[in-house]
Formats: sequence, C-alpha cells, structure tokens
Amino acid sequence: MDFTLTPEQKTVQEKARRAAGEVTEKAALLDRKGSFPKEILDLWAEAGFFGLSLPKEFGGGGHDYVSYCLAQMELAQACPAAALILHLNHTLFGLAISQFGTPDQKLRYLPPVARGEVYACFGLTEPEAGSDPSRLKTTAVKDGSEWLLTGGKNFVTSGDRARYGLVAGLTDPNQGPKGISAFIVDLKSKGVKRGPVEEKMSLSGANSASLIFNEVRVPATAVLGEVNQGLKVFLTTLEGARVGAAAQAVGIGRAVLKHALDYARQREQFGQALTQFQNIQWKLADMATDLEAGALLTLKAAWLRDNNRPYGTAAAMAKRFATDTAMHAALEGVQILGGYGVLKKYPMEKYFRDAKAGQIYEGTNEIMRLIIARDLIKGGI
Ligand SMILES: Cc1cc2nc3c(=O)[nH]c(=O)nc-3n(C[C@H](O)[C@H](O)[C@H](O)COP(=O)(O)OP(=O)(O)OC[C@H]3O[C@@H](n4cnc5c(N)ncnc54)[C@H](O)[C@@H]3O)c2cc1C
Repeated sequence: MDFTLTPEQKTVQEKARRAAGEVTEKAALLDRKGSFPKEILDLWAEAGFFGLSLPKEFGGGGHDYVSYCLAQMELAQACPAAALILHLNHTLFGLAISQFGTPDQKLRYLPPVARGEVYACFGLTEPEAGSDPSRLKTTAVKDGSEWLLTGGKNFVTSGDRARYGLVAGLTDPNQGPKGISAFIVDLKSKGVKRGPVEEKMSLSGANSASLIFNEVRVPATAVLGEVNQGLKVFLTTLEGARVGAAAQAVGIGRAVLKHALDYARQREQFGQALTQFQNIQWKLADMATDLEAGALLTLKAAWLRDNNRPYGTAAAMAKRFATDTAMHAALEGVQILGGYGVLKKYPMEKYFRDAKAGQIYEGTNEIMRLIIARDLIKGGI
C-alpha cells in the first residue's frame, strides 16, 4: 500500500492551496453579506478547477478523482460555498454527463460547464421527496419527439442562475422508481420558473432556489441514459458526489483546526497559553486524528472510483465520517475560542454554520448509515 501522492496529484493540491489562500478573506466578507461568490468562482474557473477531472477532449483537465478531492479539501478551507457551486458543475452535472451522456450530449454540455462559463444544477429533491427520491412527483409526458416536463424541485443549488439542470421526472408513473428518467434541461426554456433564493444558515453564497416546470419542452435527445433508468443515473452520480462532499468537510475541518490552534497558541489565561491546558491539547489532538481519518476514508473512496471498483459504501462511510468530524471539530473549535467563538467577526462561527449542511446534502448521514448497514448485513463489507 502506497500513500504517496503522484507528482500530478501534488501539483493539483499545491495549486488549489495557493488559489484558496488568495481568497480566504474575500470569502469571509462575501459570506457576511450573503453574496454570491462570483469573483472567487471566476478565479477558480480560470485556474481550471471547474473541469478538473472531466475529460480533456470536452474541456476538462483529465485528472483523476483523487486530485479533485485533494483540490476540494483546499478550496473548501477558503470558501465552502464556492466549493459547493463548483462541485455542482464538476460532479453532479459534469461527471453525470461524462458517465452517461452520448457523444453529442458531451460535446454540447460539457465544455461550457467544465470551463465554468455557465453554471449547472442537479434537480432531484422535491418538497415531498427528500431522502426518498423514488416518491418524486414531477412528470414527463411524451409529445412527438419531445417530453413535456411538469412539476417542481426545491433546494436546488445554483437553481437561481444555472443554465443547465439535470432533472428527474416520472416517465412511467405506474412503475414508480423504475419509471424515472433523467433530463438535461436548458433552464432558459419556456415554462421554467425560478423560485426566490432561500435564506439559510449555512453556505449562504451557494444559492438554493426552487425550480418550477410548466410543460417545459425537452427534446428526446436530452434524456440522459435510458428512458426509465433515471434513478440509476441520479444514485450513481450521488455516489461520486458524496466523496467530493466528504472532501469539502475535510477542508472545513482543517480550517477549524488551523484557526483553533493559532488562537490557542496566542491566547493566555491563568498566566499561560491555552495550549498548555491538557483539555485543549486533547481537543486539538482528537480533531487532528479524526480529520486525518476522514481524509483517508475520502481518498480511499476516490481511489476506488478511479480504479473502477465498487465504492458506494466507501463513499457513504467517507461522507458520514468526514461531515460528522467537521461538525464536531467546529463545535469544539467554538469552545476553544470561548466567547470569541460565537462572534461573527471571527471565522469559527462561519465554520460552525457551514459544517452543519454537510451532514444533510447529497443524502443525510442517517441515509449514509442505512447504506453502510445494508451492505454490512448482506455481507458486502
Ligand atoms: C445546502 C443544501 C444544498 C442542497 N442542494 C441540493 C441540490 O442541489 N439538489 C437537490 O436535489 N437537493 C439538494 N439538497 C437537498 C438535500 O439533498 C435534502 O435536503 C436531503 O436529501 C434530505 O431531504 P429532506 O430535507 O427532505 O429531509 P427528509 O428526507 O424529510 O429527512 C428528515 C430527517 O429524517 C431522517 N430520515 C429520513 N428518512 C430516514 C430513514 N429511512 N431512516 C432514518 N432517518 C431518516 C433524515 O436523515 C433527516 O434527519 C440540498 C440541501 C441542502 C441543505
């Protein structure tokens, strides 16, 4: 077993570290105003992060998924909201098209998304279908060579400005989950309405909005994968996305540790630095250990993906552990800062808010436990 990164992976990691370092202060300011992090995203698009592991022939960087996760671990330290928006383009839309798309679909949709020229989104969740997407109600009715899409999605990251959306709709309602198809929807089409941006506690710059479809015409050529095989497209895509979400959580956790350590070194009480108190040392030691374990689980899942091995359970473990670790680190981080931990002018408060969302998006951690337990019980682990 070799834990050494390849020169290519190290280069991506270092480039992402530099790119993140340049925007840390700006990210904090934008978060306080709840602004969309356009300037940060433009810089990251120019640096090639939007298409990092998408195929080179379609505008991507052609790197492996381990490299992408190493980059996410760095970028999310600076701006988790921008890291999530990038993840939508790169993985939840881009990798889905790369894996399931026809040559024409790849040629049409991947280059602008990989270059970050347009934003893309992923529309699976509905008001009554969250953890259980098989209950979705959006329908698609065939009309000649087109489908008429009617229904709505909520919690759509980038739903307010995305040009393209990967949207799940029922093409055969009698078949339930086996009657769902995946549609690539041009969100400039007639009949698409965007809901207002939700005000939320976490990741305020990564705008969540609902999308309403009223008989939106989608050409048959814009079905991704086979008709009625859409749930597979969405669930497979989510497996890869969870590894990226785990990497984002490692990034947030590392930012927490760095800040808590810097603070504990310089803050004195009872005539000594906080780092001299054993309870503070233990908190920091546990954070460092858990973050290392979270990073290893994440990179293992990414490596399995790169090597075409089954990785759904590994992805669920990485996502569950890394996001819980980031949340726990942020909780302890606030405690280490004492009263200053809850002040908005210090970054710990933001890490605390941002860490929470990771335990929910791309499948809650309860659903991750169900996936792991199911595999365990059937003898797969
Ligand atoms: C910041 C953010 C960004 C998001 N971005 C997107 C996006 O771009 N596209 C998209 O489609 N969705 C997105 N989502 C939606 C997200 O995927 C859902 O919120 C999530 O899947 C949970 O669904 P729900 O909110 O309806 O909760 P529910 O499914 O109603 O769950 C409520 C609670 O019940 C628990 N629960 C549910 N079922 C079970 C079970 N069988 N066993 C045990 N516990 C269970 C859950 O874990 C949770 O704690 C986003 C969410 C957030 C917070």
